[in-house]
Amino acid sequence: MTKGNGEDPKPGSRMERIQQGVRKRTLLAKRKVQSITKDDVKSYLMRNAFVLFTVVAVILGVILGFSLRSYKMSYREVKYFSFPGELLMRMLQMLVLPLIVSSLVTGIAALDSKASGKMGVRAVVYYMSTTIIAVLIGIIIVVIIHPGKGTKENMHREGKIVQVTAADAFLDLIRYAPLGILFLIAGKIVEMEDMGVIGGQLAMYTVTVIIGLLIHAVIVLPLLYFVITRKNPWVFIGGLIQALVTALGTSSSSATLPVTFKCLEEINGVDKRVTRFVLPVGATINMDGTALYEALAAIFIAQVNNFDLNFGQIITISITATAASIGAAGIPQAGLVTMVIVLTSVGLPTDDITLIIAVDWFLDRLRTTTNVLGDSIGAGIVEHLSRHELKNRDAEMGNSVIEENEMKKPYQLISQENENEKPIDSETKM
Ligand code: ASP
Repeated sequence: MTKGNGEDPKPGSRMERIQQGVRKRTLLAKRKVQSITKDDVKSYLMRNAFVLFTVVAVILGVILGFSLRSYKMSYREVKYFSFPGELLMRMLQMLVLPLIVSSLVTGIAALDSKASGKMGVRAVVYYMSTTIIAVLIGIIIVVIIHPGKGTKENMHREGKIVQVTAADAFLDLIRYAPLGILFLIAGKIVEMEDMGVIGGQLAMYTVTVIIGLLIHAVIVLPLLYFVITRKNPWVFIGGLIQALVTALGTSSSSATLPVTFKCLEEINGVDKRVTRFVLPVGATINMDGTALYEALAAIFIAQVNNFDLNFGQIITISITATAASIGAAGIPQAGLVTMVIVLTSVGLPTDDITLIIAVDWFLDRLRTTTNVLGDSIGAGIVEHLSRHELKNRDAEMGNSVIEENEMKKPYQLISQENENEKPIDSETKM
């Protein structure tokens, strides 16, 4: 055998064949790069048109929103302007309930009780661990950055605490098409209060939440996916862009659910038995972004009140933030409402929620995107961990089909022979 010592390999030897193969592949790759034609670009754009439109819609929405702010529209005008966005929200919302019920029924029906039990345990362990990690990131980051330096006296307060009703939730929900997203975002920016109020501590608080969410979404979750599945998390996340942008546009993980299903099943090829079983539950109870935000916001409120939290109180905040995120519905700003639980648990003034309302519409979008990412990565991880059960189930199903066919064969054979001696093939092909 020829060794890798720089000598020319013998003609026809294994080494020569390998080298030829490498040369051929390099040549092909070069040719491929050179021959990226207009058609390739066109077909790429066509394939990803919807995602591209969605991203462009977000950008246009932001530009349009900021340019229309100088017109000082009335409340009614803003509502008219946001109407296409509202229609989209309603359309998505309309799909959610039937989707949750039917997907859970088909998901569970497609699994035996043992497999669904195991899958359920895996999903819950994933939900709990990622939520706790998110809460810890929130606490650590807010303690380190300490955005609540100084007093709250010079901070802007916005509105009163009003309970979110189911009707509000419905009003605030849908979008499907990119155009709707454009109006959802532009409408929200036009509606936004004077940004001058978002100075000092509030700006620091916003940055702290963003950093926390980024650490969780860009480092922790992809790393977890990689460590468990040994697959490239960025390819997986790339397939989710449409769902993530939808989450950003709607501020609602429930309204995003139809798009999340589509991305996971059609683009990432996650087994439908897994998505249908874990996604509806995940969208309702697994909210990493919300948990991180609730812990962080509560500590921020303590900081602006110069309220020193002891270790016990920080533990209480972690537990209640976890519970509050589980309890929050997947609708816009639900986290702000359940934050009352976290604040009261350590004796912080609930009125101070009004200090952070001004930026909540924006932070809500970011935490919803993190929530949807957490659910989707969870589905990918649970699928990987459950691959053996899924395969076994496939094999069982396969066996039963074969058995059924085997049972039919003799009968088909006899009846066909007795009839007009048609070839068996014509029958089996049907
Ligand atoms: N809007 C978030 C969601 O739907 C919940 C929250 O307010 O944190 O996932």
